[in-house]
Amino acid sequence: MENECIFCKIDQGEIPSYTIYEDDYVRAFLDITQGTKGHTLIIPKKHVKNVYETDPETINHVFSVVPKIARALRDAFNPIGLNIVNNNDEPLQSVFHFHVHLIPRYEDDGMVLKTENNYGKISTETFNSLVEKIQENL
Ligand code: AMP
Ligand code: ZN
Repeated sequence: MENECIFCKIDQGEIPSYTIYEDDYVRAFLDITQGTKGHTLIIPKKHVKNVYETDPETINHVFSVVPKIARALRDAFNPIGLNIVNNNDEPLQSVFHFHVHLIPRYEDDGMVLKTENNYGKISTETFNSLVEKIQENL
């Protein structure tokens, strides 16, 4: 429990939440903004800031319930698909307690989540240097 963390407070019941699932390690509750219908957050009960600071055991607990919650959202709302999003560090992350967004998707829901398509523009040398650079840091 970290003092000023709103997600720790939600988990402790100090701030109300629309919780849909809870076990000894995780809590899943509706995101207050409901970016799309059913937009859900899954948090570990253990306070960890983000993916960089999360130990494998804690992240395993979170992801082990993702399929169950995803299927429940699918069966409840019949979306056309579902995105799983996790933001790390400012300016992407606004709450500094690790969480995974489950975002059911609907026709014309206004959400944009799209990367550039640079297929064919990157040389083999560049790909190899990317692999090397990342592997140096593993
Ligand atoms: P992120 O940018 O990934 O850190 O997103 C944090 C998310 O937490 C946002 O989507 C907020 O809408 C959501 N959020 C913030 N406060 C609450 C709250 N009290 N209950 C539910 N969701 C919240
Ligand atoms: Zn916390």
